Order: sequence, then structure tokens, then C-alpha cells
Amino acid sequence: MGFSGWRVLKEGLTGNRGWGSHWRDATPGDAYDVVIIGGGGHGLATAYYLARNHGITNVAVLEKGYLGGGNVGRNTTIVRANYFLPGNSEFYSHSLKLWEGMEADLNYNVMHSQRGQIALFHSDAQRDAAVRRGNAIINQGDDAELLSRADVKRMLPYLDYDNARFPIYGGMLQRRAGTARHDAVAWGYARGASDRGVDLIQNCEVTGIDIEGGVVKGVQTTRGAIRAKKVAIIVAGRSGQVAAMAGMRLPIESHVLQAFVTEGLKPCIDHVVSFGMGHFYISQSDKGGLVFGGDLDFHASYAARGNLPMMEHVMEAGMTLMPMIGKARVLRSWGGIMDMTPDGSPIIDKTGTEGLYIDCGWCYGGFKAVPGSGWSMAHLVATDNHHEPAARFRLDRFRTGRGLMDEEGTGSQHNLH
Ligand SMILES: Cc1cc2nc3c(=O)[nH]c(=O)nc-3n(C[C@H](O)[C@H](O)[C@H](O)COP(=O)(O)OP(=O)(O)OC[C@H]3O[C@@H](n4cnc5c(N)ncnc54)[C@H](O)[C@@H]3O)c2cc1C
Repeated sequence: MGFSGWRVLKEGLTGNRGWGSHWRDATPGDAYDVVIIGGGGHGLATAYYLARNHGITNVAVLEKGYLGGGNVGRNTTIVRANYFLPGNSEFYSHSLKLWEGMEADLNYNVMHSQRGQIALFHSDAQRDAAVRRGNAIINQGDDAELLSRADVKRMLPYLDYDNARFPIYGGMLQRRAGTARHDAVAWGYARGASDRGVDLIQNCEVTGIDIEGGVVKGVQTTRGAIRAKKVAIIVAGRSGQVAAMAGMRLPIESHVLQAFVTEGLKPCIDHVVSFGMGHFYISQSDKGGLVFGGDLDFHASYAARGNLPMMEHVMEAGMTLMPMIGKARVLRSWGGIMDMTPDGSPIIDKTGTEGLYIDCGWCYGGFKAVPGSGWSMAHLVATDNHHEPAARFRLDRFRTGRGLMDEEGTGSQHNLH
């Protein structure tokens, strides 16, 4: 089933009776070339690029709930490529380029909106850090612009410029950054993979990983055993639990991250805006809701819901930056389980078991990574070689200490990243 303007017009005029399912809801087969554990953004994108780039279609994606029910459908949808450190910067640069061609490639409207992100700074020292980061981004080949206080005031007139404690000195703008419709990204990759022959199997929890003589043989699931030549663990917040099924102990802690949305309002926030003096970032969804979030709840948890202290912190930061937000009513809040690594950077690597691969550690920033991660993970699974932009995402950096990418400069505490 293809999408086009003409198709939308025709269906609109004929009662929308011609639309079919976007993907096949498959039942488990006995054996596959590749089994992917996890039907989130990264698992689905990996399946899609395995088929599209490498012609590997005897693939199953096993999802314990429903496709897109995890973090891929829970995030605040910010897409950007403004990372500072080698390793991250080339990877996210590659990922953003894939975003820019995604809708045409998938023939699917993911509502990718390059509305620009403005990261505010509130002191001379923060401006210096922003300049350094901006130069690194430009050297990588991506865009960054330094905005003065007057520039910011022109673009974001609704902020509080007279706050004596947190004066706004300026901001760094990335015009190519923005947002996308998160569910649609999962659906688009699911549809693209399914069209190419990949089996997408929902309500199928992996409960064990079969390994014989150091070689992966398949998985045990709630819907029976499935044999596989290769198995990829791509389960975000559940990475520690699933890797433990293969006898691995990962350098990952799972923490909750919350987000909030208000009632629908008329358009008032045109960009993605992030506060520099507390954890608060905001954009306005296409339905009009103000979508915003903050930092992790500061304890490890597998509960996909948040706690009041962090909610209070986020509301305070929002009120400090834009007091007008106090008039909006919060419609709902939710949480997702984040796979936090000690350096805040991800892992795409082989494991000590032949045929077993892992893609995890995306922390609170893995939505923007979906296309890049899928592309690089598919490359690794198909060829057994690391894909260049993701070549530094090695698991052994946490054992050797070499190649750590501490993007936030916060040291090795998971919950401070
Ligand atoms: C509130 C919030 C805000 C965020 N904001 C942003 C943002 O603005 N920008 C950004 O870039 N990132 C953001 N993120 C992070 C981003 O959402 C995640 O890093 C990313 O979605 C994780 O990858 P995924 O999509 O594959 O994860 P998921 O969608 O969680 O996929 C993993 C899947 O594995 C499945 N699974 C787990 N265990 C098993 C098992 N045993 N068997 C079978 N299946 C299993 C789960 O059910 C799940 O569907 C945010 C996250 C949250 C929660």
C-alpha cells in the first residue's frame, strides 16, 4: 500500500475504504537468519536496513508488547545533531542526514519538522562552552549559529528576560534540528520492514537465549522456541535484563525519564527550546500541546512512570523560563525506562558469544539515533564489521577505560548524565 497526495485525495473522496494494514502481524516461524529482540525504533530500523541495505529478509522482530509501545512512543521527539565529542558527533551527523531522507525512503509521513533548536545560555562561561560546541559541530559539517540576547528575544519573545537569577545571555541555534512524530517513525520502519518480508511478531517476550559452545542458537519465548543464526538484543531500558539471559552483565543502569504534555493551544512556540540553568526543554506538537521534559528521576527503576519531585523540578524550571506556561493545564505525564551507560554514550557491538549482537545505552537521547543506529547495527549484524560512524561505540571501553565519550562531562555516575 503506497502513500501519495493523489491517494489521500482519492481515499478522502471515496470514504477512506481503501486503506489496508500497514504491516503483517506475523506468527512466529521455527527458524530465522536473524532474530531481533525488541520492536522499538532501533529494532525496527535495524530490521528495515537489514532488508533494504543487505538483502537479509529472513528476519523476525520479537516484541513483548506492541510495536512502538516502548520509549520510541514515549519521548519528546527532539531530533538534532549537536554533539561535541568525536564518536558521537559523526554518528549523530550521519543519523540526521538519514532523517532528512527518511520520509521519501519509507514513503511514510513521519512529520519530520526542522523547526530549529535553540539551546539557551545564561553566563559568559556558558557562552564560551556554546561557542566551543558550535565550532565542533560546524567542523563536523553540521550547522550551528550563535545568537545574541537580542536575537533570542526576537525569536522567542515569550521568555522571561528579566529573571535576575538566570538572565538569558543568548543561545545556540541549530536550524536543521527539530521534531518528528514518534509513533509514525516506528510505524514507518515497521511497514518498510514488513513489506520486504520481515516477520513482526507482537506479544512475544523473549525469556531465554540459547547458547551452545559459545555460539548463539536461538531464543526461548512466551510463544515457543525460535532458532536463529544471529540474535540482536535491542531492548533499550530492558538491556540489562535481556543481556543477563546470555550471562552478560552490562555497564548499564535503568532510570525513569518523564515527559509532560499540556492541553492543545494555538501555535505559540515555533522552535525546540532548552533552558541552560536547569533541565527543561519544550516544543509544541502539531496538535497544539506543549511537550516538555527534564532530567531523570534520580533512582534506578523499571517503572514506566515518574515521581513527584522531578515533576515539581520540571514545572519550576518551566515557570522560571517562561512564566506564561503557568496558564496551560497539563493533560498527562508519563515515563520511559532509559538505558544509562556510565559515559552517557551508546553501545553497538558484538558480544563474547558468536552470533550475538547488542545495541543499547542510548540513555535519554536515542530517538534522534533511530535511523543511524538501525543502519549501523544492520551493517554490523550483516557483515560482522563495525560501520564507520558508529565504530567507537564499543562495549570494552567500559572495561579498558579507553575510548570513553563522556559527552556531558559528568563522570561515571549513570544518573548524572
Ligand atoms: C520521556 C522521554 C523523553 C525522551 N526524549 C527524547 C528526545 O527528545 N530525543 C531523543 O533523541 N531521545 C529521547 N528519548 C530517548 C529515546 O526515546 C530512547 O533512547 C529510544 O527510543 C530507545 O530506543 P528504542 O526506540 O529502540 O526503545 P523502545 O521503544 O523502548 O524499544 C525496546 C523494545 O524492546 C521490548 N522488549 C524489552 N524486553 C523484551 C523482551 N524480553 N522480549 C521482547 N521484547 C522486549 C520493549 O517492549 C520495547 O518495545 C526520550 C525518552 C523518554 C522516555
